[in-house]
Amino acid sequence: MEIFDITIIGGGPVGLFASFYSGHRHMKTKIIDALPELGGQLIALYPEKFIYDVAGFPKVVAKELAKNLIEQGLQHSPAVCLEQKVESLLPVEHDGQKILELTTQKKEVHFTKTLLLTVGIGAFVPRRLDLPDFERFENTCVHYFVREKSIFKAKDVLIVGGGDSAVDWALNLQDTAKSITLIHRRDEFRAHEDSVDKLMSSRANVKLWYEVDSVSGNASIEKVVIRNNKTNELETLHVDQLLFNLGFVASLGPLRDWGLEIEKGDIKVSTKMETNISGIYAAGDIATFPGKLKLIATGFGEAAIAVNNIKSYIDPKARFFPGHSSDIKPKK
Ligand SMILES: Cc1cc2nc3c(=O)[nH]c(=O)nc-3n(C[C@H](O)[C@H](O)[C@H](O)COP(=O)(O)OP(=O)(O)OC[C@H]3O[C@@H](n4cnc5c(N)ncnc54)[C@H](O)[C@@H]3O)c2cc1C
Repeated sequence: MEIFDITIIGGGPVGLFASFYSGHRHMKTKIIDALPELGGQLIALYPEKFIYDVAGFPKVVAKELAKNLIEQGLQHSPAVCLEQKVESLLPVEHDGQKILELTTQKKEVHFTKTLLLTVGIGAFVPRRLDLPDFERFENTCVHYFVREKSIFKAKDVLIVGGGDSAVDWALNLQDTAKSITLIHRRDEFRAHEDSVDKLMSSRANVKLWYEVDSVSGNASIEKVVIRNNKTNELETLHVDQLLFNLGFVASLGPLRDWGLEIEKGDIKVSTKMETNISGIYAAGDIATFPGKLKLIATGFGEAAIAVNNIKSYIDPKARFFPGHSSDIKPKK
């Protein structure tokens, strides 16, 4: 039973910055995220977009900001648990000390003295196709994330979607897949213009106004029928691997039932970023207080306030002010 000082639920920009601060304050830290990658909305929703309002960056591509935040947030070596959606919370006693027990959808249990909720707009679930018995292909021939490019090697790949992820993967798999077809239900992409230009001049077969009509096969996919949503014309494709990049839906899920004070879907916090439950703090998009602004820049400040208050909560004798990071001696 390993007990952490602080468990950060949500490895988005705010959770990652909080992880830097908690390591800086010598707290034993764990980050848990429902997604297979750290970065939160920056990676899941708009990886290729420029952001112009992060202090110190005149402009920065979201995925580059995420990369730097991950490097900064992991430099004190926190434990990182991915693809784990935290569902239940139980206060328990261990050696006379009150701690919190968290359980995830995988039934894994985590123990922590305090909790920082940086869950943003909630756990993201990829949008799936509502076709009968479709789950049987998931993780073998149907994918929502690319974990290893090698599964697409020398395969006929069908990519569905019109956002950054769909376009990026259609470009990125060019050196791996035997053939790439990308279908999109409209004629406008929600992706970076440069990437769309590259896609259009690449070897990918791009079919606009098309949607998946049916998928058939036994253990693996044998064929996919696509339908032109303007003409209703059907076309049958030979497909080995199907990659859906249709975006995500987000929800707070069971966290709503933890007894936290919630206002218009957000968790109410004090000026210390503490919720109504002792030892549980919140920061970033999910936290609300009078005058709240949901921005990355403000979330960073909230993370620093939350973590330093958590330090005082765990160790009332510790200094509240963390000191200046510029006083840290560089590692050789
Ligand atoms: C298209 C778009 C453009 C934007 N542009 C800007 C901009 O230019 N400037 C700006 O300041 N802001 C911008 N934003 C908003 C900005 O992205 C958010 O304010 C920021 O991501 C909030 O960070 P966060 O860490 O609080 O939450 P998130 O980034 O939402 O991260 C939360 C993380 O928590 C995880 N999580 C949630 N619930 C659970 C659970 N139960 N168990 C485990 N993990 C969980 C999620 O998987 C996610 O990874 C934009 C947002 C969008 C959608």
